[in-house]
Amino acid sequence: MNIIDDHEVLVVGCGIAGLSAANRAAELGHDVGVLEKAPKEHRGGHTRFSESFRVPSTEADIEQYGYEFAIGDYTPDDFYKDIMKQTDGRADTELARTLVDNAGPTVEWLTKRGVNWDMEPLNVGYTVARTFFDGEELVADLVEAAEEDGATFYYRTEATELLVDERGTASGIRARTDDGLVEYQADVIIVGAGGYESSEEKRTRYYGSDYDAMKVRGSRYNTGGAIDMLIDAGANAVGQWGGAHMALIDSASPDVEGGANRVDGYQYGVLLNNDGERFFDEGEDARAHTYAKLGRIIFEEPGHTAYIVIDEPLKQHIRATGPSDPVVGDSVEAVLEELGCENPDQGAATVEEFNAACDPDEYDPDSLDGNRTEGLNINKSNWALPIDEPPFYGYSVTGGITFGFGGVATDTKARALDTVERPISGLYVAGNTTGGLFFNNYPGGTGLTNAAVYGKIAAENAVELLEGNTPESTAEPLGEK
Ligand SMILES: Cc1cc2nc3c(=O)[nH]c(=O)nc-3n(C[C@H](O)[C@H](O)[C@H](O)COP(=O)(O)OP(=O)(O)OC[C@H]3O[C@@H](n4cnc5c(N)ncnc54)[C@H](O)[C@@H]3O)c2cc1C
Repeated sequence: MNIIDDHEVLVVGCGIAGLSAANRAAELGHDVGVLEKAPKEHRGGHTRFSESFRVPSTEADIEQYGYEFAIGDYTPDDFYKDIMKQTDGRADTELARTLVDNAGPTVEWLTKRGVNWDMEPLNVGYTVARTFFDGEELVADLVEAAEEDGATFYYRTEATELLVDERGTASGIRARTDDGLVEYQADVIIVGAGGYESSEEKRTRYYGSDYDAMKVRGSRYNTGGAIDMLIDAGANAVGQWGGAHMALIDSASPDVEGGANRVDGYQYGVLLNNDGERFFDEGEDARAHTYAKLGRIIFEEPGHTAYIVIDEPLKQHIRATGPSDPVVGDSVEAVLEELGCENPDQGAATVEEFNAACDPDEYDPDSLDGNRTEGLNINKSNWALPIDEPPFYGYSVTGGITFGFGGVATDTKARALDTVERPISGLYVAGNTTGGLFFNNYPGGTGLTNAAVYGKIAAENAVELLEGNTPESTAEPLGEK
């Protein structure tokens, strides 16, 4: 076994959780090594495919930075309420509170570390999120900033085993590398290695027998090995393992690493399945509060497929990031037929019935405008406008997985917890490797903020431990507590 290197702080993963941890620990003057499973050109996990952080904001922030949608003041309490509402009250309240309180300062700190924000707001919902230019650029900027402060990055280096000393304190990582198995020793370890969603085996295990075929929106490297490693070392497995962020995406998306590929604006039109029927209240809530659960709902429909239908006036509200162009036609039936819907006649009849159930007042795409249908089996709660002005446009969509909701237990200091909620000394975990925050659904833009906030917190607490400023540094041997 080679012992290749040792570092004061060893970080596993170079997405936003690992990069926030590495940047903070290096900025605080410590020697940092980062182990990344992917080759350098694929580094950055799901983070490199993402685009916006949800953050509390004021009108002044919105003027300064540009936001996804300008709703004026959005406080930490508003953010907290959105997390609790979207997770049906199941989110760990302490983790959620720490997240919302630290979101704004963490994003300001990322700005100081070199993140470039995009000034152009995207018209995709009414919640507040700050967008950046490009995921790859975000990752490159944060790697560069950490390297300037002395951090070393090791690519094609997959953490497979957590090493612990005789006191049960994390002391190193065994990794698979191009040179075989290698041991990296460290004083403290921070794991931000993403989730398990890119593993066909784990998708089948946690979501069902067809889910091996579900498209993976992000990195192929997030196969959950690091989570297994932490559970093997005694960390508790928590959260909703059978839950996931699964988004509505273009049916022609690649099987893996397709990126966003969303068709935003579906909330203003209708969604039909292969039987030509509606199956979801498209106007239930803002796009940012329905798209992360809609992918799974669509995947459960016949052929794992659905069709968005809109008419000419609604076209301006669609933001489709590819790869397909819309199908255009003079009738709903023609559009559905070209899209491949198995029952276009029924689809056209469903749209007729929908149109008859609409009685719109003033339409406002930027708020829950209360324009609802009456009398349908599944009513549309907002933005219910008749789809009756040709030409008509259609998109074929399916469900793509973004990330799973299960993971490792942590506390508000990002310390890994064992099965009796005791911190595992020297071990910190952040981002999608953790569980306990997301259940059933997800408020858009919170994944990045969660990973950045707890990556930074992990580094700050790891450094405290390293510098001997915390009682953990004098932890008693396991079994004597
Ligand atoms: C297409 C897409 C769009 C998204 N858009 C948004 C958005 O706009 N806003 C938002 O908030 N969230 C978004 N998300 C979710 C967001 O990307 C994640 O919540 C966030 O990036 C999680 O960060 P992370 O650091 O925990 O994981 P990741 O960014 O996935 O990073 C994990 C890293 O760990 C590495 N790794 C894995 N296993 C090992 C191992 N054993 N050893 C070493 N390294 C390992 C991986 O290669 C990867 O580099 C999106 C996700 C996708 C896929």
